[in-house]
Amino acid sequence: MPHYDLVIVGTGSGNSILDSRFADRKVAIVEKGVFGGTCLNVGCIPTKMFVHPADLASTPESAARLGVDLELRNVRWREIRDRVFGRIDPIAEGGRRYRIEHEDNANVTVYEGEARFTGHKELTVRLADGETTLTADEFVLAAGGRATVPDIPGLADVDYHTSDTVMRIDQLPRRAIILGSGFISAEFAHVFASFGVDVTIIARSGALLRNEDEDISRRFTELASQRYDVRLNRRTVRVRRDGSGVGGHGVVLDLEWPGGEETVEGDLLLVATGRRPNSDLLDVAATGISTTPSGHVVVDEYQRTDVDGIYALGDLSSPYELKHVANHEARVVQHNLLHPDDPIASDHRFVPHAVFTSPQIASVGLTERDAAARGVPYVTATQKYGDIAYGWAMEDTTGFAKLLADPRSGQLLGAHIIGAQAPTLLQPLIQAMSFGLDARSMARGQYWIHPALPELVENALLGLPLED
Ligand SMILES: Cc1cc2nc3c(=O)[nH]c(=O)nc-3n(C[C@H](O)[C@H](O)[C@H](O)COP(=O)(O)OP(=O)(O)OC[C@H]3O[C@@H](n4cnc5c(N)ncnc54)[C@H](O)[C@@H]3O)c2cc1C
Repeated sequence: MPHYDLVIVGTGSGNSILDSRFADRKVAIVEKGVFGGTCLNVGCIPTKMFVHPADLASTPESAARLGVDLELRNVRWREIRDRVFGRIDPIAEGGRRYRIEHEDNANVTVYEGEARFTGHKELTVRLADGETTLTADEFVLAAGGRATVPDIPGLADVDYHTSDTVMRIDQLPRRAIILGSGFISAEFAHVFASFGVDVTIIARSGALLRNEDEDISRRFTELASQRYDVRLNRRTVRVRRDGSGVGGHGVVLDLEWPGGEETVEGDLLLVATGRRPNSDLLDVAATGISTTPSGHVVVDEYQRTDVDGIYALGDLSSPYELKHVANHEARVVQHNLLHPDDPIASDHRFVPHAVFTSPQIASVGLTERDAAARGVPYVTATQKYGDIAYGWAMEDTTGFAKLLADPRSGQLLGAHIIGAQAPTLLQPLIQAMSFGLDARSMARGQYWIHPALPELVENALLGLPLED
């Protein structure tokens, strides 16, 4: 049974831990899929590489309001797809080859297969040509999560997609049905609709992106309903195959809602109803690691599990399920492996996220619902894009920034933006929160370039009704 100093499971953020400082350790990396993990291969990066051309394709709509008539002549889907994966696939393969072949990794053995714990600090890997069992002093579990598929009668009998497969299709469908109302649904709806596909979104709840601040979720639901066929409060009772559609892959969904029953038809079905951590497939219980009801591995602030010498990070243990969080936690684990007597803690105080849909959305800190539920004293200010000079230039009538702050200290508690460049506009607010810069100092302690979009943030800060 090979024994290692360190075994890392998963090559997403887990792969970034090893550097020359680990050269004197005997290390194994286990990967069951494509090197580089979700973000690189089927997540953040390819989706945003589709979103950018989608933004371009949807320009005629916004330009017309400004007196500029543009025409979308064609979308060369296969070229877009092949450019995206022509960039990404070699990066994944390059990462794999580096670990397997490069002299820097002489101390590293790569096992390409699925790992699961079969005993205390004992990991069995299913390889193409059999099984092997590894033991180690230390483990890093960075096995991420996967798309979940709801148990709907008939679903297993139709050709449906998840985010793992939908970006590689050969041909755009005429009509796409997206099941789910979270960020993956919002991003793919924008991509498909911009490329000329008729999109239907089916949501179980009464709003899209309902984890966002309520004002943001409400505005997005209104705007999405103008662009897509949005069906809220729907229960999908059955999925049926329909001989129509591209290659005869049509689907029909039978829905129930308070108004009765209905059906929707499409040529492609994207199931985007959620994700779960891979702790079950990794069988972490077999080594004595506990998980939360949602399946996340339980870790302390140092990313340590209940078992001495086993760390976990990223989507496997983090409810945020964001790449910047997985990367941050990987840096923490790296430090703690190198300096066990001087460990550092993960900083989850102000974790931002963005939704690259249209309009863009970005958020950090408390929503108004969170603040009310926690009984935190707060004041809010909302600044419309339409009321700043650059917003006039853009003729923006729908975007806004909403801030929450402590009325006394002026410390920001939350920031939420829906509109053009929302993630970029949010970044200085994340910085202010992270470094304790209060709203007054932030607004008046620096110049704001006039008449640029960040005046949205400046005016939102000035609009906070803080106590004197
Ligand atoms: C469509 C989509 C869009 C996204 N967009 C964004 C975004 O814009 N911004 C953002 O911050 N986040 C985004 N995310 C989330 C982001 O991709 C994840 O948070 C991030 O990739 C998690 O990194 P990780 O290292 O924890 O796990 P992963 O990157 O998932 O890596 C886990 C690795 O472990 C391997 N593995 C799993 N189980 C085993 C096993 N038993 N044995 C061996 N190997 C195993 C997997 O094959 C995988 O390679 C998106 C996700 C999706 C699905």
